[in-house]
Amino acid sequence: MSSNTHQRRLEANREWKRRNAEKMREYNKARAALIATTPELLERKLQQNRESAKRHYEERSEYDKARNRAKTNARALIRNRIKRGTLLRGCCEVCGVPNAHAHHDDYSQPTVIRWLCPKHHKEAHANDNK
Ligand SMILES: [Zn+2]
Ligand SMILES: [Zn+2]
Repeated sequence: MSSNTHQRRLEANREWKRRNAEKMREYNKARAALIATTPELLERKLQQNRESAKRHYEERSEYDKARNRAKTNARALIRNRIKRGTLLRGCCEVCGVPNAHAHHDDYSQPTVIRWLCPKHHKEAHANDNK
């Protein structure tokens, strides 16, 4: 195959894509116009939107649940260690106040903690909500 043939094929491919993109745009425009003027189609489209929003919400809440579980587990692990005496409360890493809280930057790593006094602990959480 000569490089010329190759070149022609590439061009044909590009041309095909360009035509198709135009066709798709026109098709979508026509479809949107049809939906907007046909109550049943409009209702179906709204219904689809509602369903996808609901699905999205459910997926989201599954994710939140998993995250909350990880959070509860991570906190329980630290609490148990402190109770058993295998972990001693540290001082706030910012201001040095003793008996600080154990703070998790990442609940999926329950053993990775930072010690923070109530004030700096609050600040750390204010930051991660941003
Ligand atoms: Zn924390
Ligand atoms: Zn502090």
